[in-house]
Amino acid sequence: MTAPPHTSSSPEHGPDGGDAGVPDVDAEAVVALTQALVRLPTVNAEGAAVVEQPAADLVAEVMRGFGWQVHVAEVAPGRPNVVGVVQGRPGGPTVMFEGHTDVVTAGDPALWSFDPFAGDIVDGRLRGRGSADMKSGVAAMIHAARAVELAGFAGRILVAALADEEGMMLGAKYFAAHQAAALAPEGIAGVIVCEPEAGEVCTVAKGAMRLLVHVHGVMAHGAMPQHGRNPLPAVGAFLVGMSALQDRLTAEFGDHPLLGRVFVTPTVLAAGDPAQINVIPALATVALDIRTVPGVDHAELLSTIGALAERVAGESGLRAELVVVDDRPPVDTPESEPVVAALRAAHREVTGVEAAIGGVPGTTDGTILTRDAGLATVVYGPGGKWIAHQADEFVEVAEIVQACRVFAAAARRLLVAA
Ligand SMILES: [Zn+2]
Repeated sequence: MTAPPHTSSSPEHGPDGGDAGVPDVDAEAVVALTQALVRLPTVNAEGAAVVEQPAADLVAEVMRGFGWQVHVAEVAPGRPNVVGVVQGRPGGPTVMFEGHTDVVTAGDPALWSFDPFAGDIVDGRLRGRGSADMKSGVAAMIHAARAVELAGFAGRILVAALADEEGMMLGAKYFAAHQAAALAPEGIAGVIVCEPEAGEVCTVAKGAMRLLVHVHGVMAHGAMPQHGRNPLPAVGAFLVGMSALQDRLTAEFGDHPLLGRVFVTPTVLAAGDPAQINVIPALATVALDIRTVPGVDHAELLSTIGALAERVAGESGLRAELVVVDDRPPVDTPESEPVVAALRAAHREVTGVEAAIGGVPGTTDGTILTRDAGLATVVYGPGGKWIAHQADEFVEVAEIVQACRVFAAAARRLLVAA
């Protein structure tokens, strides 16, 4: 992606001159903070002793250095949410920036052409795991809020660097349950989730469900199957039913203009033991990864799937069990929400072009903030949409600075008029 003419990768980014409404951001500091965060390998791996802590500590230190109130809360042992509260003049609303401090694994370092935690800058690109997803977004939101603070505003800005987005989103769940009402008793007018979306203003996000379907049979010798009950034929019928369900949902919901189709994808099939071909297994398990679009009713979909599992199992005299591992509904934030309008106007103001309206193919912490706290969320941030979780992850330095300026201009639009 090429940098719009307004932005500069130069650390000596000067005052904004003619750009009324865009507070001057500290470009050098935002890039340096991104680098420092990328160099902390905060990998969200199963059983890891240390995940977000070093990045959370750094973020808290920067926020305290600005004189902000900083609230640190452990959402699990050693897994902190850090929320900075920037207080303006009385009378304005509360707006929120959100990011996460964990990253996914770098995978095999041999797949990378550089050190995955280098945090260096080569040819205008800041490189490393988490550079796009989303330490640049975290750095940009912090320095955007600082710029708005220095320029003066009414209201309050919450700057939330949360834990475990790449896992079960424990940080966002904790924030919605325990911190939102405590830190903003008057409510939060809108949330900008600073994930890498290549400059698109993403008002919609797909929903996701992770399900397990267990079909319980009776173990028996393969020579005497009449003494057992084999769950596998029922699983076969169930999988055929899932294909039919996907076809029905495709016919009903078609192609969402920003999100595409509904997917019902079996991803795991577990039963029996390849070394024990003469044993009828007692249990077969199917895992489903379901991706939905606005309009799909998750509760209804669950009952459809549960009923099918019971029917096909029942036809073989078996019992089916449906386990909901995770249920994240689709997000559909109206374009009329002030936070969306402010972000679009800010993007135009900073870049000189209209922002594309986009959709998030996966889920973000914004999904949880909307689901659990009813907040209006919109996703926008530096970095390419598709580079997240890949080897050789990078973010254009110019995009970090541009996003920081857009964040600041958007917040100012929401906060200064008050
Ligand atoms: Zn992310």
